[in-house]
Amino acid sequence: MSDYKTELKEVWCKGCGNYGILGVLARRVFPKLQIPNHQICIFSGIGCSPRITGYINTYGFNFLHGRAIAFAQGAKLAKPELTVLAIGGDGDFFSIGAGHLPHAVRRNINITCIMANNFVYALTKGQTSPTTPFSEMGEHDPRSFDENPPVDPILDMVAYSVSTKASFIAQGIATDPNHLSRLIEEGIKHRGFSFIGVLTACPTYRGELFNVIREKVTYLDEGKLVELPESSEEKPWIHDPSNIDLAFKLAKVPILERPYLGVFFRGKEKL
Ligand code: SF4
Repeated sequence: MSDYKTELKEVWCKGCGNYGILGVLARRVFPKLQIPNHQICIFSGIGCSPRITGYINTYGFNFLHGRAIAFAQGAKLAKPELTVLAIGGDGDFFSIGAGHLPHAVRRNINITCIMANNFVYALTKGQTSPTTPFSEMGEHDPRSFDENPPVDPILDMVAYSVSTKASFIAQGIATDPNHLSRLIEEGIKHRGFSFIGVLTACPTYRGELFNVIREKVTYLDEGKLVELPESSEEKPWIHDPSNIDLAFKLAKVPILERPYLGVFFRGKEKL
C-alpha cells in the first residue's frame, strides 16, 4: 500500500478493470512523480470508474454526471500549481459530458483526462454507451447483445480526440500497468490538455468483448513501422507521434480490428 491509497474498501466487481487504473495511479504514478497528496486534485462524475476519487488519498471531487472536466478546468485556472486529473468512463465523458471535452481541448488547459473505456454503461446495469461496438441485428458474436444489439455507429474516443486536436493523446490498457504508468506519467508531465484512453474490462457486462480486444492489442513504437490490420489499404508508415496527420491515419483503424496502445499524438506544450 502506498501513501496514496485510502483505507476505503473498493466496491467494484471482481476482475473489474478499474482496479488496474487505481493501482497504477496510487502505487506507481503518484509515488514515482513524488507529487505531495495535497497538491493533487482528482475530479470525477458518475459511473463505476468515478468512484476512484474515494480510494485515492488526494483531494477528490465526485460531481454530477459528465461534469468532471468542467470542474477540473475551473480548479486548474484558480490554482495552476495543482496537478489536476479528470477521471471517468465512456458514458460519463462521451455522452452526457461530451459537450465539455472539445472546449477543454481547444483551451488546452493543463489537465490530464483519463477515460476508462469499458464500452458500456456499467453502473446502470449494462446499457449501450457511445463506445459500444455496432453490430447488425442477429449477429451473435461477443460484440453484440443477443437481444438488443446496438444500432448506432461507435464513437471512437481516440479518433475524436485526434479530430479535436488534444495536445497529448494516448491509449493504454488496464491489464498492462507498466505501459499504462508510463503513458499517465507522460500525460501528467505534458503541459497542455492530455487525453488518455484506457481499455478496461467490465466482466459483469462486457467480459467477452474485452477478451477479444485484449487479444488484438498492438503496441505503437516511435520510429518503428506501424502494424496495420489485413483489411487496411494503407501502406505501413513509421510511427511519429509529432505528426497529427499520421495520428489521424492511426485513428481511422477500427478499434475492434487493431486496438493500438501507446502515444498517438504529442503536440506542442504550453510555455
Ligand atoms: Fe467494474 Fe463492470 Fe462491475 Fe462496474 S459493473 S464495477 S465496471 S465490473
